[in-house]
Amino acid sequence: PGVDIIAVVKANAYGHGVAGVAPALEAAGVARFAVVSVREALALREIGIRRPILVMSHAFSGDAEAVIEHDLTLTVHRAEMVDALSAEAQRQGKGVTVHIKGDTGLHRFGLAPDAAVELAEYARATGGLEVEGIWTHMANADEADDSFSARQYETFEAVRKRLPWVAYAHAANSATAIRRPELRYNGVRAGLALHGVLPPNTESR
Ligand SMILES: *Cc1c(COP(=O)(O)O)cnc(C)c1O
Repeated sequence: PGVDIIAVVKANAYGHGVAGVAPALEAAGVARFAVVSVREALALREIGIRRPILVMSHAFSGDAEAVIEHDLTLTVHRAEMVDALSAEAQRQGKGVTVHIKGDTGLHRFGLAPDAAVELAEYARATGGLEVEGIWTHMANADEADDSFSARQYETFEAVRKRLPWVAYAHAANSATAIRRPELRYNGVRAGLALHGVLPPNTESR
């Protein structure tokens, strides 16, 4: 209870066909969607998805116009992107919601703790942006031994403590959502589990 389902529908809904899967998930009541690229997010808007859509990987300054026009939630990694969004938000006369990704050990996108805090505070101080969320991703979520998640949890908690004004946190994929309740936070980014696959090493839970 109280935990959002963030439906991950990247890679054409894991090959099932996003045009069929995403509207069904929206009708079923998922709170949000997540995809890898801006292009995938725009495709969701094109088929009529209205809920918030998080872009999880890198975006470029040139994406700012479409991101704001279509109310996408962007993960920002650099001050340059913050500046581009702010300028475009002013031009369009509307705000933009962003999330910050902290790297807690996966080393695929994401900012080290100090850089994550610094960028979040920079974005907060920049007009037109709302820093709604902070997130991370577990490196060993689906492996038999996911004990490294405990270390990542500690790192993530330390970052969260430094950003108490950021309202929304998320860290878990399907496997972590099942195995580690303490990592469910405000939402779980479930892909496999929504597409009918029980992730590895979760059966006994
Ligand atoms: C793909 C992905 C997910 C979803 O993972 P599943 O194992 O399919 O639940 C969650 N977060 C990120 C960052 C991803 O890239």
